[in-house]
Amino acid sequence: MIGFGDMITRHLAREKRTKDVGRYYPSEIGGCLRKVWFSYRFPKDVDPEVIKIFHLGNMIHDFVAEVMKSEKNPEVTLVGEEVPFTIEDGDFTISGRIDDIVMLEGEDEKILVEVKSTKMTDILDGPKDEHVMQLQLYMYAMKIFRGIVLYIEKNTLKTKEFEVKYDQNSVNEVMKRFRALHANLKAETVPPAEAKENPDKRWMCKYCDYLEECQRAEIDGN
Ligand code: SF4
Repeated sequence: MIGFGDMITRHLAREKRTKDVGRYYPSEIGGCLRKVWFSYRFPKDVDPEVIKIFHLGNMIHDFVAEVMKSEKNPEVTLVGEEVPFTIEDGDFTISGRIDDIVMLEGEDEKILVEVKSTKMTDILDGPKDEHVMQLQLYMYAMKIFRGIVLYIEKNTLKTKEFEVKYDQNSVNEVMKRFRALHANLKAETVPPAEAKENPDKRWMCKYCDYLEECQRAEIDGN
């Protein structure tokens, strides 16, 4: 036996990533702020199984870009892929990458596409809040005011897409979250246990690497 499972694990293995206070990422801001805070203060090795799931997501992103570039799909032109951007706000920076920017045949307006791989599309009746937050911020950064969240099933390649209109109030809310995170990190104060306190977000705790630290913070009165 060759042991391909171990080979994949070794191939994808990466060092623990330490993050600098003052540099933030849109993909994290829709999650529990306390968890994001912990990830800056107490970085942990990422579980190899989680790395594999992320990698699968990246492979799906590449596939979606390939589909959009295909000559068999002339109604869509891919004008940008993995487009980097930064937003400066006071003494911190937000940086990220936009999955895809497309134009539709006969239109002169660009559209941002945020691709998310998922287990099942049937249960989705709208884009998830955290994905909308991400896209709103991208629209703000790029001054492109149309966006789509595209969900694609990992096992079947079934898709579901939701158009998202730019909303300045949502952007203000997202920026408020970044400012709160930055202030908490600078002051070394733990933010509220957002996911635990919100029934709609409580599922996030199930996948959180900081359950123990979170409980300890409660006991310590944070
Ligand atoms: S356990 Fe839940 S509330 Fe606590 S940090 Fe993790 S996601 Fe947030």
